[in-house]
Amino acid sequence: MTTTPGIEPRHRREARGLRVGTVLLLVAIVPLLGVAAVTWNSIGAVQTVADAAARTEELTQAAVELAELNAAAFEEMVWMSVTSVMDAVDAPGEVIRSVIGGDPHEQLSAAIERTDETAAVVARSDLTTSLQLAREGERDFGEVLADYGAIAASTETSLAELLAELTTAATGSEGADDLAHSLTVLELAVEHRSAMAEQFYGFFATTFDVRGTPSQEISRLITQRDRATRALSALVALPPDTPQLAAAIDTLMGGPELAGFNSAVGELIATSLDDGVPVTAAPVELDALVRNADGLTSILTATNASTEAMMVLLDHAVDEVLAAARQVRSDADREILRTYGLAVILTLTSFLTALLAARFIVRPLRALRQAAGDLQEKQDRPAPAPVGGPAEVRAAAQAIQDASGHLHLVTRQARALAAGVLDSEVLDEQAPGGLGDALQHAVGTLRAALTQQDDFRRRLAHEAAHDGLTKLANRNASMAQLTRSLARTTRSGGQLAVMFIDLDRFKDINDLHGHQAGDAVLTTIAHRLVTSVREGDHVGRLGGDEFVVIAEPVSDIEETVALAQRILDTLTGPIDVTTARVTIGASIGIAIADGDHLTADELLRDADLAVYRAKAVGRGGIEICDEDLRNALAETADLTAALRQAIEQDELLLHYQPIVDTNTQQLHALEALVRWRRPGEDALVPPDKFIGFAERSALIVDLDRWVLDAVARQIASWKSDPDYGGVPVAINVSGRHLAHDHFVRHVLEPLATHGVDPRGIIIEVTESALLDDLASASVKLQQLRDAGVLISIDDFGTGYTSLAHLRSLPVDILKIDRSFTANTVTNAHEASIVKLIIDTGHLLGATITAEGIETVKEAAKLTGMGTDNLQGFYFARPQPPERLPRGAIDTTARLDG
Ligand code: C2E
Ligand code: CA
Ligand code: CA
Repeated sequence: MTTTPGIEPRHRREARGLRVGTVLLLVAIVPLLGVAAVTWNSIGAVQTVADAAARTEELTQAAVELAELNAAAFEEMVWMSVTSVMDAVDAPGEVIRSVIGGDPHEQLSAAIERTDETAAVVARSDLTTSLQLAREGERDFGEVLADYGAIAASTETSLAELLAELTTAATGSEGADDLAHSLTVLELAVEHRSAMAEQFYGFFATTFDVRGTPSQEISRLITQRDRATRALSALVALPPDTPQLAAAIDTLMGGPELAGFNSAVGELIATSLDDGVPVTAAPVELDALVRNADGLTSILTATNASTEAMMVLLDHAVDEVLAAARQVRSDADREILRTYGLAVILTLTSFLTALLAARFIVRPLRALRQAAGDLQEKQDRPAPAPVGGPAEVRAAAQAIQDASGHLHLVTRQARALAAGVLDSEVLDEQAPGGLGDALQHAVGTLRAALTQQDDFRRRLAHEAAHDGLTKLANRNASMAQLTRSLARTTRSGGQLAVMFIDLDRFKDINDLHGHQAGDAVLTTIAHRLVTSVREGDHVGRLGGDEFVVIAEPVSDIEETVALAQRILDTLTGPIDVTTARVTIGASIGIAIADGDHLTADELLRDADLAVYRAKAVGRGGIEICDEDLRNALAETADLTAALRQAIEQDELLLHYQPIVDTNTQQLHALEALVRWRRPGEDALVPPDKFIGFAERSALIVDLDRWVLDAVARQIASWKSDPDYGGVPVAINVSGRHLAHDHFVRHVLEPLATHGVDPRGIIIEVTESALLDDLASASVKLQQLRDAGVLISIDDFGTGYTSLAHLRSLPVDILKIDRSFTANTVTNAHEASIVKLIIDTGHLLGATITAEGIETVKEAAKLTGMGTDNLQGFYFARPQPPERLPRGAIDTTARLDG
């Protein structure tokens, strides 16, 4: 495939690269990813908080369980201590019940049950093992205390660890403050509870010899009392945010149970400090028990109260912690939901934005691309519809629209130019801007060039159809016009007339006044013709001095003749040429078309025929081609065919007329004269009947050539004839034949064919034939003369040959026309003209022949005037060769006679 450089093949070029939609999507995805990351991160963080909250709940639960186990183990320890003490001292039931207010064994069983329940919940094997160890029977009270002390310590340590972990877990979360408060309460409660338990052991150990020395136990009591006091003060210092908490703190602060214990402890410490600490404690015996019954009771009551208070605090703190944790978790859940919501909103917003962007940018861009594509493919489409969208896109669309408009305009203008519609309004349209200016300029230039070309073509066409001199339509254009007019009248059923106008003696004006004068006459005639015809009639020049008028329509012959007469009258007015005033006549031949289905050629031929007859009748006439003329025409057609046949089939024959030498009175030459033995006619047809006719057609050339050949043949056959061998034969040639390009060859060829010496023939050319084209005729005749042929000018004196002309002509013989011969005898003036011709002829080196000699007088007269040769009936009529006289042709007698 070949393409013009710079012009792509006509399939759409797709630009490579990302589409705007894709880019926008990518742009939308980036923030989306960010949102996803942030969301993921936030959700992670919140999840951590939620997890921490859940963990807090878990830890709190564990702490509660541990605290419960601690409390249960303590209670169990109290009852274990009590029962083991009771069993050791073997105290009576009523004493014990009075001290304790119930069966300690039942209390112990209930305590163990509770401890096991809580231990099962806590599910710590080390504690379970310690518990089983502490409960083993037959044990020393001190060992029991130590075992339970270990359990308490273990649970308290674990609890402390849990609380620390809780504090950490709660830190930083929402509601951490509440949580911290609750945890502090819990911590302090546990602390207080632990200090109280320690005091219980201390009190017991100070009183009874179960553990350490009394001084050690007193110091421990002091420490634990201070610890309990500190924890309590800290609790009091905390903002009491619930009534239960306040009540619980009140119980611990000033409840009668704890107050009793506290005062008992305070009393023990004060007594010990005042009175000195006893070195040994009392053994665990019944009387000691009874003695210290009040103290023991207060301890039991106090520990119970402390435990209950602690449980209240614990419950309270746990409630608070759990509430806080739940709050944290629900906050976290809400946060997660919020984050998810935010993410969804952001995502939706992003998508919406992308969608809007697509609507706002991608759509117009797509339309823009469509427009650009259309522009590339369909330049002949009107400009695309305006495109919305961002300013840049609008601007680009506007540019494309403008370009499309330009292209559309260019396409339409190009079409107009290509179609040659140079006056099309579209060519005046101008697109805006510099491009528009440039285009308009280019279109203007092209238009001008095309207009020029168009004008030139029109001029050429006009020139081809018009005659350069008169500006009238020429023959071709006139024939075309006639054909059109004919078709029109045939359709309408009307009539039209063709007038063939032939100027009379126009040649004389050329000869007398020069060609310029001739041109001026033709131009004037053309102008007069145009002004004399009716509006709508056609005037044309057929050539030379022949014009044609097509009158359409005409109603009848009278009207047509009247029109022709008017034309004639106008034409014949005097015309001023440069040197003189001339008048010129004309003849008009008319042919009328009345639906006889004549062609344009036939019509013009009829008109020509009519003008020919008009001239024959007498110049300045009008003749109509009627039936007679057409019949004559038909005859002519017959004659043409017959004559052609005559030439082809040797119906022609030659007669020879002797020409006599006036000096020797012997035969000088013969003239060959043609005859026609026409089938069906008795007499021979004389040349006058057909030569003129043949001369009007090309037949004359064939006829002449037939004669030339026949004469050559005759001369050849006479070669050794005693009478006619070597006698020159004159041959008549027509002017039309003389004008023929091959005339010279036509003359010489038959001579060569029959072996005849060119000096044996004389070519006779009439004076009028010579004058038609003097220059070319003289060249050809000179060529013949050079070959040895003698040249004779026939019918001399009838034309207008100035004698001076003769000087330049190759002439051997002048043949004075027959019309002079008779007059020479009767008319002195004529005789003097003949004498002038004879003398001048002689002067120019020609011999003179006189023809048409019928009488002895004529023969004598012309001989006397100096004529060289004579021809005429007086001597001999033209004869067929076989009848020509035999023996010596002596004419002396006649000339002398
Ligand atoms: P032309 O060349 O002037 O020929 C002489 C004519 O005068 C001949 O007539 C001849 O018969 C006739 N004639 C001769 N003596 C006398 C006379 O004493 N009195 C009268 N009244 N007539 C005489 P023809 O043969 O009828 O020829 C007539 C014309 O036809 C010739 O005139 C010549 O122009 C032409 N013609 C004859 N034969 C030929 C030919 O072979 N070729 C051509 N082109 N023209 C020919
Ligand atoms: Ca002749
Ligand atoms: Ca003659």
